Amino acid sequence: SEILNSMPKAELHAHLNGSLSLSTIQKLIDLKTAHHCEDVHNLESIISKLCDEKHNKTLDECFQVFKIIHQLTDSEKSIYIATVDVIKEFAKENVRYLELRTTPRAIDGSIDTYVNAVIKGIDDCRKEKIPILVKLLLSIDRSRGVDVAKQIVDLTISLGHARNDVVVGLDVSGNMAMSNITDYFPLLQKVKDAGLKLTVHTAEVRNDAEAEAILRLKPDRIGHGTFISPSLIESPHLLNLLMESNIPVELCLTSNLVCKTVPSYQDHHLKVFLEHGIPFSICTDDKGVFSTSLSQEYLIVSRTFNFTLSTMWSFSWKSLDYTFAAQNEKEDLRKIWKEWEHKNE
Ligand code: IMP
Repeated sequence: SEILNSMPKAELHAHLNGSLSLSTIQKLIDLKTAHHCEDVHNLESIISKLCDEKHNKTLDECFQVFKIIHQLTDSEKSIYIATVDVIKEFAKENVRYLELRTTPRAIDGSIDTYVNAVIKGIDDCRKEKIPILVKLLLSIDRSRGVDVAKQIVDLTISLGHARNDVVVGLDVSGNMAMSNITDYFPLLQKVKDAGLKLTVHTAEVRNDAEAEAILRLKPDRIGHGTFISPSLIESPHLLNLLMESNIPVELCLTSNLVCKTVPSYQDHHLKVFLEHGIPFSICTDDKGVFSTSLSQEYLIVSRTFNFTLSTMWSFSWKSLDYTFAAQNEKEDLRKIWKEWEHKNE
């Protein structure tokens, strides 16, 4: 496990507020206490209960956890602290490329304030020379409606130009039970037309018609892709579509297990996707809420499927192809990966 920790890795699917460690949560509770906010004790007990790794959650319960965490990240300062802590924690386990995603919420009426606090966190880590390249995707929470989404898309496009060194695209996430994805398609097309990248949570729960519509939209990557796998649905139709489109999939094993969308690690669709040559990247989703880390996810994959270290390295290596970094940045990252490979041959 130490060797997987030392191996350079790329994290392509990490929600900021789902990635907060308990120590960051404690820091944010202390910040609230210092500002004499009410309800802090209440928050503390709820959070420790919900973050208990043995407490298996349904997806719906996870969405409740996010609502609680959001009460702690409701100011410029708390969002900045959250961003810096998450980046440093990933860097500590040798994640050398991090694509963070987050759903902007209005602070004092402005979603720009939220996003600027995140970007400041990213910029300051760069100034501090934390050895990790960080990019940002803004997320649309599809349960919040098209009007809110439109503001986020406009901001993504303007920052995708003004800060194209950081902001690389858009993610679509949130509670899928509560919305119709096609309502968002004109906005998603706008993001693609602006030359920005797009990743969409797809088939995390079963909805074949929706999964097909998303695959036909051809996002640059998809998240989860669980109910595309013929190990879970009768028809290979969606899998064939995925194979034709060659869209890389962000796979989050512990997240899927905890939320019970896959019955066991052994039954995870990673194996099916690998056998069918579907490109994928191993990711954490919400390392805080699911009590995991990227090294831990690599360890789980290697133990579950008996993969050798060189196979695990090749998964990490290939995930560089699927990042939304610029070509020259990918080349620089590849040098780091190669160097590690030579040292560990
Ligand atoms: P945030 O965007 O930084 O606030 O991170 C938390 C948010 O990410 C949640 O409120 C959800 O909208 C989204 N999210 C995190 N995990 C999942 C998931 O597994 N499925 C769908 N959405 C998710």
